[in-house]
Amino acid sequence: MNSIDAQSAALRPETLASHLGRPGRRGAPVNAPVHRASTILFDSVRELEEAKAARFEKGAVFYGRFGTPDIFAFEEAISALEGGYGTIAVPSGLAACVLPLVAFLRPGDHVLVTDSIYEPARTSLSAFIERNGVEVTFYDPRIGQGIEALFKPNTRMVYLESPGSLTFEVQDIPAIAAVARKHSAVTVCDNTWATALFHRPISLGVDIVVQAATKYIVGHSDAMLGLVTAGPEHYRELRQAANWLGYRVSPDDVFLAARGLRSLAARLRQHHETGVSLAQWLETLPEIRRVIHPALPSHPDHAIWKRDFSGASGLFAIILRATSKAEAIAFVERLRLFGMGFSWGGFESLVLIGDPAHARTATDWREEGILIRLHAGLEHVDDLQADLARAINRLAQADRKPAAV
Ligand SMILES: *Cc1c(COP(=O)(O)O)cnc(C)c1O
Repeated sequence: MNSIDAQSAALRPETLASHLGRPGRRGAPVNAPVHRASTILFDSVRELEEAKAARFEKGAVFYGRFGTPDIFAFEEAISALEGGYGTIAVPSGLAACVLPLVAFLRPGDHVLVTDSIYEPARTSLSAFIERNGVEVTFYDPRIGQGIEALFKPNTRMVYLESPGSLTFEVQDIPAIAAVARKHSAVTVCDNTWATALFHRPISLGVDIVVQAATKYIVGHSDAMLGLVTAGPEHYRELRQAANWLGYRVSPDDVFLAARGLRSLAARLRQHHETGVSLAQWLETLPEIRRVIHPALPSHPDHAIWKRDFSGASGLFAIILRATSKAEAIAFVERLRLFGMGFSWGGFESLVLIGDPAHARTATDWREEGILIRLHAGLEHVDDLQADLARAINRLAQADRKPAAV
């Protein structure tokens, strides 16, 4: 174990992200070596049997599928950052979202889920979890302690994501977690947008944090990985469920995630700065109906964001004044520095046309105009602004043309 672990409580997240999970010994390389392994060898039957008995314990080396020391070291680093007891690395962010559902929900149970949930996870719930006899109720992400009215005797779990990764509602996590605790329901929160560097849901009363390390932790759009972090009361069941599902992560992907972790703080600081700067500028433009960014005072949940978060990442949305899909398509296709495609959290800027209305059932999406999601990457902010300005300028020209054209 790294000597840094012992003092980790006193160190700041930037320092921890640099030091955690490293061998930290003289004569050892700076970084943990990559273990590519299926078979692990033992010297005696007794040792092999002991390893088998301990296979769901943290850090136990037994067989490749249960993890290797490099993966354990990375998991420990994430646990320290999130303030949890243990972390389980899983093959994708979606696998992380699904793991607590599979581990804790039984036929007849009821789960409350934020209406702003990452859409593929919503599909897993309605197409897979619900099919197995679990009742799913979506709730308004702005419900706060009002969520108590939705509790039933069989409510076993509350699933949060804050902010929503398309619509950016910030949830009152302490209020929701307190109600859930009172009703003995497990709380799960997707923390992909902020990462532990800007937001620690466990410290706000949440039981289990899930996240797509695919985004900011990997940070270079070249690997996929999910993380599930929990306290000691939930860790073992999650670890077991991950094994029952056969989840196993590539040590090379974990290596990339561990490498990403080293520069996470510096990258996030820049994503924050560039994102806020672009958002503030976009807010002044007449062609933009609304900017949806939790760090702007105009955001309806800005006060909660300020209370619970220490920064913003690079992902936010704008609503164009234009209401025709054709204009929105022309706008995003005119951008040169913002690539078009799914995911985000890498070094590069991205753009996507969103359609929140079709993925909601508990709340209505009444926004007039088309939602465009932007990811502010690590390019120079002036270049990004110029690229947006050029595309928006043409949008303005289109507005001034007669409607028939
Ligand atoms: C991308 C994302 C996921 C899923 O991550 P993958 O690694 O793409 O499976 C889960 N939650 C949120 C909020 C995401 O943005």
